[in-house]
Amino acid sequence: MLPDIKSLTREEIETQFKDWKEPAFRVTQLLDWLYARRATNWDAMSNLPKALREKLRQQFSLQILELARKQGAGDTTQKFLWKLADGSFIESVLIPANPALYGEASDRHTLCISTQVGCAYGCKFCASGLDGWKRNLGVHEIIGQILAVERWHLLQPKEESLEPTANRVVNNIVVMGMGEPLANYDNLIKALKILNAPWGGGIGARKITISTSGLAPQIRKLAVEPLQFRLAISLHGATDEVRNRIMPVNRKYPLSELAAACEDYQKLKGRMITLEYILIAGINDSLEQTRPLATLAKRLYAKVNLIPYNKVEGLPWVRPADEVCERFLAALEKLEVTATLRREKGGDIDAACGQLRLKTERGMARSH
Ligand code: SAH
Ligand code: SF4
Repeated sequence: MLPDIKSLTREEIETQFKDWKEPAFRVTQLLDWLYARRATNWDAMSNLPKALREKLRQQFSLQILELARKQGAGDTTQKFLWKLADGSFIESVLIPANPALYGEASDRHTLCISTQVGCAYGCKFCASGLDGWKRNLGVHEIIGQILAVERWHLLQPKEESLEPTANRVVNNIVVMGMGEPLANYDNLIKALKILNAPWGGGIGARKITISTSGLAPQIRKLAVEPLQFRLAISLHGATDEVRNRIMPVNRKYPLSELAAACEDYQKLKGRMITLEYILIAGINDSLEQTRPLATLAKRLYAKVNLIPYNKVEGLPWVRPADEVCERFLAALEKLEVTATLRREKGGDIDAACGQLRLKTERGMARSH
């Protein structure tokens, strides 16, 4: 299989074009076709000489994510299921920053992207890991999710469009879809550099958040990357006892090691970390957890993001009652921790990662 052109940085394309004795401005033209116009084939690149297009076609692929299924409509959360070239499925979720509850258009959008097909980490509550890990996404497949959503957006009829006049619809990226991003480290970082570059996606590093289940060595590696991405830790338990029960990764990198890596990250970057904490009834929602959670949050200068659990078909876990979530939040606030509680119903369209893929693949398996 040929390498995809979108897995190359500007410098790498420049080197290739120099080899071919192509003038430098051709690189700019090509990047414009890829990232500003989001071309879907070489023939569309009408200002590139035919001979150059032919050389490109022979050396590189130009893969496009195929929309297999979409849930959600209008200006609410929209979930995309993409079919990759090898027939695998991945998901991306487009979330309006300000859901247009009263009919106003919302112009800021966050795209939640995947980094792997499946996930090897097997957290007990998560749909992404249920059928195991299949493969890492390539650089072009990570980038392709943003391009495909923007292409889809531009094709919408005006009255249904999210933001009819703008060329760009994705302003923020959260790497919280399927897979463990830090287990696909090199492809992730290269893709994010391209999405951040002014010649590429043009999305500020501070508008890109990477979420990890706690791969301590890779957190240390991320700390010395020059770009200022935001970091979120999927904590979900403030003691080893709780984390061990629901997240197998904690046996490899227990809390002491994870916390030390986060502390170093925070010191080196000087940036605030977010601790994600899903509230699961009877598992991690007792007030006993709030004290160690507060201690950790303060040590890391972190804020805590409480998320009531989204039901996953086939798994026994349930979200606690609203009062339990509110009580947990109040207890943290009393301990002087900056915390938020997600109150909207995220469950309507299987918003938690991995669920749409699981449903589709299992549905297909049944119908075969
Ligand atoms: N593997 C990375 C990123 C993908 S998961 C990580 O674990 O951080 C993104 C977030 O969704 C994680 O915080 C994960 O714990 C959370 N999540 C998974 N299943 C969920 C569910 N059913 N309800 C709510 N959040 C869920
Ligand atoms: Fe993988 Fe993250 Fe799901 Fe855990 S929560 S199984 S690390 S995707």
